[in-house]
Amino acid sequence: MTAPAPFALLAELTHRCPLACPYCSNPLELDRKADELATADWIRVFEQAAALGILQLHLSGGEPAARHDLVELVAAAAQLGLYTNLITSGIGLDKARLSELAQAGLDHVQLSVQDVGAANADRIAGLRGSHQRKRDFAAWVIDAGLPLTVNAVLHRGNIASMSALVDEVIAMGAGRVELAHAQYYGWAARNREALMPDLADALAAREQLPALRERTARDITIDYVPPDHFARYPKPCMNGWGRQSLNVTPRGLVLPCHAAQSIPGLSFWSVREHALDEIWHGSPAFAAFRGTDWMVEPCRSCDRREIDFGGCRCQAMALTGDARNTDPVCVLSPFHDRVEQLTTAPRHDSYVMRGRPPRTPDRTLSPPERDDADDVEAQRPAPAR
Ligand code: SF4
Ligand code: SF4
Repeated sequence: MTAPAPFALLAELTHRCPLACPYCSNPLELDRKADELATADWIRVFEQAAALGILQLHLSGGEPAARHDLVELVAAAAQLGLYTNLITSGIGLDKARLSELAQAGLDHVQLSVQDVGAANADRIAGLRGSHQRKRDFAAWVIDAGLPLTVNAVLHRGNIASMSALVDEVIAMGAGRVELAHAQYYGWAARNREALMPDLADALAAREQLPALRERTARDITIDYVPPDHFARYPKPCMNGWGRQSLNVTPRGLVLPCHAAQSIPGLSFWSVREHALDEIWHGSPAFAAFRGTDWMVEPCRSCDRREIDFGGCRCQAMALTGDARNTDPVCVLSPFHDRVEQLTTAPRHDSYVMRGRPPRTPDRTLSPPERDDADDVEAQRPAPAR
């Protein structure tokens, strides 16, 4: 089928990152610094994106600040008229560099925060001092006149703090907060039992949301991404595969979604060999689940097939062994009992931190900046424990 133009591109500039979040959805096998696209490659991709009709460019990672050419990349994207959103941990950017980014034309900053208090936030991030740095960074963003959104991944270890977290984000000066329950892709799948909240806690969070929104309406907009394992129907993953957006990995592979490499048998084309337009319209990986023709029952004849597109292909793959199946989150899926098994499984509070030992909370960030984001070897996955 012919695809309309996408409107958003997620540029995963690097997998290097100074943090070690247990909910990290980046793949187990990270791209190495030596394999990352060069500055000229990324600028070519941005030019092709603008020509393809893309409007929004999300600069992500890992930690995009680990790229020494970040200012140059933002300037190039801004000159092409792309709306640039920097998705950052706030670690590795000082006030002067943030100011350079603003002058280069950066439009928006999205800062991740792990929890409301420094002790637990640093424990989750795997880096002591990181929460205070994020507070400082938020103040620099506001000083630079840039709009700020804070993103917090919700899970068993912080869900009770949701209301206080929103208050802290307001104090940081953000205009929007995204409260998104953890997704169990990549590294996060290793920590499912430590991350997934109990049903009662997930319901309590959802129930307090209307009052929380009402109380804070004058200060902030709250976006809430519910935990799909407790839902009746799945989320419309990526708003439909190959329908609105694409991801480019640090080494240049173009994916229909962040976790698509977990589906065996898909062939991902690279921006090193193909133009973005050619990939969007011709790559077999994008064609594989675009539209509804690929669907099997019960999705194929379901009234909701153009609403949720059968849910998430990666989740169907992970839980049923076949990416074409209905997302088992759906109550109509013949595999729905597998989700019920996960939501009732025993929980624990012990994380496997992203990266390898010694990526533990004992690591300390020394002001003004100690950033091991260039330490590629530190990004290698830890062995399963
Ligand atoms: S470790 Fe944390 S900050 Fe780094 S990429 Fe993963 S989720 Fe993002
Ligand atoms: S059967 Fe498929 S299309 Fe219907 S609600 Fe479930 S996931 Fe969505």
